Amino acid sequence: MRFVTHIECTRCGHAHDPTRVATVCGTCGQMLAVRYDLGQVAAHVRRDQLSARVPGMYRFRELLPLLPDEEPVTLGEGGTPLLPLPRLAAHFGLRHLWAKDEGQNPTGTFKARGLSMAITRARSLGTRGVMIPSAGNAGGAAAVYAARAGLRAAVVVPRETPAAAVAEALIAGARVFTIEGSIATAGQVVSGSAAALGWFDLSTLKEPYRLEGKKTIGLELAEQLEWTTPDLLIYPTGGGTGLLGIAKAYEELRAMGWLQRPLPRFVAVQAEGCAPVVRAWLEKAATTTPWEHPVTSAAGLRVPAPFAGRQILEVLRATSGGAIAVSEAAIADAQRLLARLEGVWVAPEAAAAVSALGVLKDRRDLSSDLRIVLIVTGTGIKYVPPALPSPLALPRSDDAAVATICRALRE
Ligand SMILES: *Cc1c(COP(=O)(O)O)cnc(C)c1O
Repeated sequence: MRFVTHIECTRCGHAHDPTRVATVCGTCGQMLAVRYDLGQVAAHVRRDQLSARVPGMYRFRELLPLLPDEEPVTLGEGGTPLLPLPRLAAHFGLRHLWAKDEGQNPTGTFKARGLSMAITRARSLGTRGVMIPSAGNAGGAAAVYAARAGLRAAVVVPRETPAAAVAEALIAGARVFTIEGSIATAGQVVSGSAAALGWFDLSTLKEPYRLEGKKTIGLELAEQLEWTTPDLLIYPTGGGTGLLGIAKAYEELRAMGWLQRPLPRFVAVQAEGCAPVVRAWLEKAATTTPWEHPVTSAAGLRVPAPFAGRQILEVLRATSGGAIAVSEAAIADAQRLLARLEGVWVAPEAAAAVSALGVLKDRRDLSSDLRIVLIVTGTGIKYVPPALPSPLALPRSDDAAVATICRALRE
């Protein structure tokens, strides 16, 4: 890998061999990150050359762990729009509000980016199969990219995982197992089985490659905002790969001289029924402690013990950000509000980020000139539809049907 220098522990700094399968730090057990010779990257490519490349996350290939000329395992992920949200902005008294619409990725969520990258590495490292504990979307994405790469895949999900994500994994030929408990329980059995079978364990942040894929959200954001940063970045946080990936992107771009502005304030949003990051933030703790009975309809936020809790809190502190918990009712309201005002039907996780705007407004923490980006992590189509009014059934005769429609629309 041309510009990769090593794989480094984010806690103790120990350097690991980038040409071997990396998991967690062999010295202290913490999360690893891929490091690049950023001066060499900056000398090799100029930022204004990027727009001439094929759209999508691999236009940033010098900042990704790819072998020279390696064709990634891809379904066309990345290159998602940064949608201005003028009507939602006006609702909250704001003037500059955008959604990075990750629902437009293959698989309908930003998990596609991480799994495209990780499965590319798994294939080139010659792994036998990949295994992943998931709240749903990561499992679905792992399965489809494994199918694309011709690798075997196994997915372990909690029993109440959204049906579309399970179907996505099954139709792509993965072996799917359900378990009583949360993604934490699933993680334990994956760890044991992957070790026994010699398969690659793709658990969140227990390998450094998914993070590199997620990092491309931040690279794209920088490019889309013309090499500036927003003031506030609101992120629905489960295991935290997106949050850490975006922060890593900004740091690398700053080190390369492509971006001068400081990092945005990162705000982590969680559901009240599973908020280990928010609790640790309010207690000013250095790391998270496991949440006892995680419950939320936002499956991707049902992560009671994020492996990188310490690193997530470090980003929140370093950027003078914050952490907010929102209720299930607020998530449901925000989902309808965004769809009605802007036409974007998002996953409950992403709706949590929208509802955080209401919390910030109530706290008088929103000034109208702030530039705010919401990371809209997935599409609502993958979830059981929310409770909505039934469509109006029309009578059989055409005339009566026309009359019914006219009456309804004139009301
Ligand atoms: C996984 C997921 C999240 C949380 O992402 P992390 O990287 O675990 O923080 C948020 N939204 C959706 C739709 C997800 O699938």
